[in-house]
Amino acid sequence: MSNIKQNKSLKPYNSFGIEAKARHWIEINNEEEATEFLFDNADSDHPMLILGGGSNILLTGDFEGVIVKVNIKGQEIMDEDEDSVFLRVGAGENWHDLVMYCVEQGWGGIENLSLIPGCVGAAPIQNIGAYGVEIKDVFDSLEAIHLGSGVTHEFFHEDCQFGYRDSIFKREAKGEFLITRVTLQLSKDPVLNTSYGTIEEELAKLSYAPTIKDVSDAVIRIRQSKLPDPKEIGNAGSFFKNPVIDQEHFETIQAEYPNMPYYPAEDNQIKIPAAWLIQTCGWKGKRFGDYGVHKDQALVLVNFGGANGQDIYDLSTRIMESVQETFQIELEREVNVI
Ligand SMILES: Cc1cc2nc3c(=O)[nH]c(=O)nc-3n(C[C@H](O)[C@H](O)[C@H](O)COP(=O)(O)OP(=O)(O)OC[C@H]3O[C@@H](n4cnc5c(N)ncnc54)[C@H](O)[C@@H]3O)c2cc1C
Repeated sequence: MSNIKQNKSLKPYNSFGIEAKARHWIEINNEEEATEFLFDNADSDHPMLILGGGSNILLTGDFEGVIVKVNIKGQEIMDEDEDSVFLRVGAGENWHDLVMYCVEQGWGGIENLSLIPGCVGAAPIQNIGAYGVEIKDVFDSLEAIHLGSGVTHEFFHEDCQFGYRDSIFKREAKGEFLITRVTLQLSKDPVLNTSYGTIEEELAKLSYAPTIKDVSDAVIRIRQSKLPDPKEIGNAGSFFKNPVIDQEHFETIQAEYPNMPYYPAEDNQIKIPAAWLIQTCGWKGKRFGDYGVHKDQALVLVNFGGANGQDIYDLSTRIMESVQETFQIELEREVNVI
């Protein structure tokens, strides 16, 4: 294909703002272009990376293969009844713009996921979540092209094996598919989910019954006050997942740290905020030249300007080692290391 570019700078395409190059770069706008590209490259042994908004990746060096930037746009109502709308959305649509569109239409279900950066196609991969809602709660299905065969597959809810920041696309099917479209089932009679974080406090200021727009506005205000904006300081949101431990392990740590925050998790397990573990190990606000741990958010590793991805990766390893040593808890990276 003629529109393949060489040695493309990836700095504008990753929210960490890391300077790295893609050996080959192609942008695809629809399924036909994707299939044509895969057909042309069937014999190539170049590694391939599918890219959305670049807000959940850490580039540790130049990418010596081909990056496929997905720009598939469009949204259409596939089905509709009294209660729901089934909206099929192109993988290259901006996630937050989609949330704003649904809120405007009065379709509920994703308002708590306002202001999460990135594209629609990546959202099911780590089952994006915030403020008590995950995409799995509204997910109907997705379409994806198998990179090896070029064949289109449809994945329904149970096929995706969603978990906390997890799905089949982070495990068995990792790097195997190019997601082209995602269909969500949105509610025409939304039930608000306001129990999480400080949403309730924000909504208490209103003198009328809140709407999904009010929930979205509250989430946006809370996020803007708490999370660093990647346009100002490079980051990829939470760098680690919150670990889950068993009751016995929890009680051992709690005996020493009675103020440790925790939440009940599935199967009688306990979820511990990774931010608390990292902060307790003394990492919050630590700066090493051009990279470090955010001063207000221990879970967010940052690039102050000219950091390289390997430095940030090494810092994440040091943090994991220190949490392991202090709490015997193994942290897992949420960000995709490339
Ligand atoms: C400030 C900030 C706040 C954040 N807050 C949250 C939050 O509250 N909750 C949350 O869950 N996440 C959060 N994130 C993480 C991030 O926004 C999400 O993971 C988002 O879904 C990533 O989308 P993306 O398009 O940028 O993905 P990318 O970073 O481009 O890609 C992520 C992974 O998905 C793959 N991929 C991307 N598109 C496709 C596709 N079409 N087909 C196949 N594979 C693909 C990539 O290869 C890569 O492995 C935050 C990030 C930032 C920077």
